Amino acid sequence: ADWDAAVAAIRSVALDAEVQLICHVNPDGDALGSMLGFALGLRRLGFTRLRATFPGEFDVPEPYRALPGSELLVPEPGAYAAPALILIFDVAAESRLGGLADRLDGDAPVVVLDHHASFTGFGDVSLVDPAAAATSVVADELLTRLGVPLDAEIAECLYVALTTDTGSFKFVRSPSVHSLAARLIATGISPAEIARRTFDTRPFGAMKLAGEVLGRAVLEPSAAGGRGLVWTYATTADLERHGQRPYVLDALIDPVRGVAEADVAVVIKELTPGEWAVSLRSKGGADVSAVAAALGGGGHRLAAGFTGHGTPEDVIARIRPLLEA
Ligand code: 5GP
Ligand code: MN
Ligand code: MN
Repeated sequence: ADWDAAVAAIRSVALDAEVQLICHVNPDGDALGSMLGFALGLRRLGFTRLRATFPGEFDVPEPYRALPGSELLVPEPGAYAAPALILIFDVAAESRLGGLADRLDGDAPVVVLDHHASFTGFGDVSLVDPAAAATSVVADELLTRLGVPLDAEIAECLYVALTTDTGSFKFVRSPSVHSLAARLIATGISPAEIARRTFDTRPFGAMKLAGEVLGRAVLEPSAAGGRGLVWTYATTADLERHGQRPYVLDALIDPVRGVAEADVAVVIKELTPGEWAVSLRSKGGADVSAVAAALGGGGHRLAAGFTGHGTPEDVIARIRPLLEA
């Protein structure tokens, strides 16, 4: 990673110049948490014109609306001043920048912070560590190199990012993750309170919706007795019936991936008619990032995603042969 180039790019920008921070479409805890934590760090350095955004509908998931720094969030900027610097968080592929992808072609230098092995390579300086548990690990390292001391607001953002991407430390493979968590908690944040807000709070309608979506799950044991596949889907009509926003569906992959008889779990979430956000999870036997990449998406070995088309059955029919390959 080109830390020195990233530090130099940030240090060369005037403190009153416009800096834009961008994370991926349908942002998750790591996208928003690493972006806002870093934005607060820049504010501590004296930057005064910070705007944080993401492509598509301006729909911040409820659990993240109260994150420190969320006052810096603005809808996809159309007519704003040309930025002097662009920072991009948790974005593995330009397609995840939606309508903001054209920002990469402007005059402003672009620094990317990410942790996807499937990173496609864009931006002027890229800090991409596939071994990092979350983009917030990369953000913490860059803040340290910039001389920004951790405080409770920055720490809360980075902690939310770290716990969402590690499944509350279930997917950790390095003690450094807990070292970072310890440093964050030492600022005085409350892990229990943050966990309750982030993972254990949902509207009644979201629970009822989950009941329906999980109730229609299909288990397909593999003929050879090998990799079973468990999948389900949710439509926009399901969301409307229960008065819920799309992000409430993102939690449903967790109970689905726990099915003992399956090695691979899939949740297919309708975006627009015939277009679906597909979440894939593997227990280790299958590399779902390869499956997702073959279908135009990406991610990590054990957690990946892509945009699918047709019916849920059509989506599964595209996935199944790739798992058998
Ligand atoms: P999730 O299923 O939680 O939405 O995403 C799991 C992982 O797959 C994340 O690391 C995410 O970045 C990646 N991912 C999900 N959807 C897409 C997609 O459409 N394109 C790409 N390139 N990656 C995706
Ligand atoms: Mn993400
Ligand atoms: Mn991430």
